[in-house]
Amino acid sequence: MAGGSNPPAPGEISLAHHGVLFLDELPEFHRRSLEVLRQPLEHGAVTISRALASTTFPASFMLVAAMNPCPCGYLGDARRPCKCTPMQIERYMGRISGPLLDRIDLHIEVPSVPFQELSGKADGTGGLVMREQVNKARAVQRERFGPESHRLNSRMTTRQLRRFCALDSEGQDLLKKAMDDLGLSARAHDRILRMARTIADLEGSADLRPPHVMEAINYRSLDRKLWAR
Ligand SMILES: [Zn+2]
Repeated sequence: MAGGSNPPAPGEISLAHHGVLFLDELPEFHRRSLEVLRQPLEHGAVTISRALASTTFPASFMLVAAMNPCPCGYLGDARRPCKCTPMQIERYMGRISGPLLDRIDLHIEVPSVPFQELSGKADGTGGLVMREQVNKARAVQRERFGPESHRLNSRMTTRQLRRFCALDSEGQDLLKKAMDDLGLSARAHDRILRMARTIADLEGSADLRPPHVMEAINYRSLDRKLWAR
């Protein structure tokens, strides 16, 4: 996935540069292949070291991954019972390391959808409206970081975080409580702030308010699960 062989060739993560890397059934990948994702997710590049030389390939991609709640897939499903033992579930979840989860901004649980709803008329936000919202949020970010910069909220430095993600005391309390209750890392703390900034931008809000922080915290559901184990 990261690339390799001799001479080093780019892997899937570099082929997905400036695009999307989708990993279905995430826990089925070898843990070693998944851990390799940590460096590129952080730095947008991957370095492959060989005895004589090391090669760096670009690897700035959006990671999208899917997984089941348990090996049989029915944990929490109202229509079918889950047949897994707690041990099997723990082993399954344990294949995704905390440091990798830390680097994923949004964790979203998707309950199974009954057939009638699938075939019914869709409501919710349409693609065109969504594109409009994203374009607006992107424009806000261009203004924030300067027209020449390609920086986005997700890549804000610590200094920029302090400058652009100042919280009022209620927001600070919320975040502190989440850190304590969920045992979040410093990295997850910063991710929540970056995410909250984007939620506020999508809303057209200049201030980072408690509901933005709350929503961003809610996207850490897998941290909660791992913490509860
Ligand atoms: Zn199960």
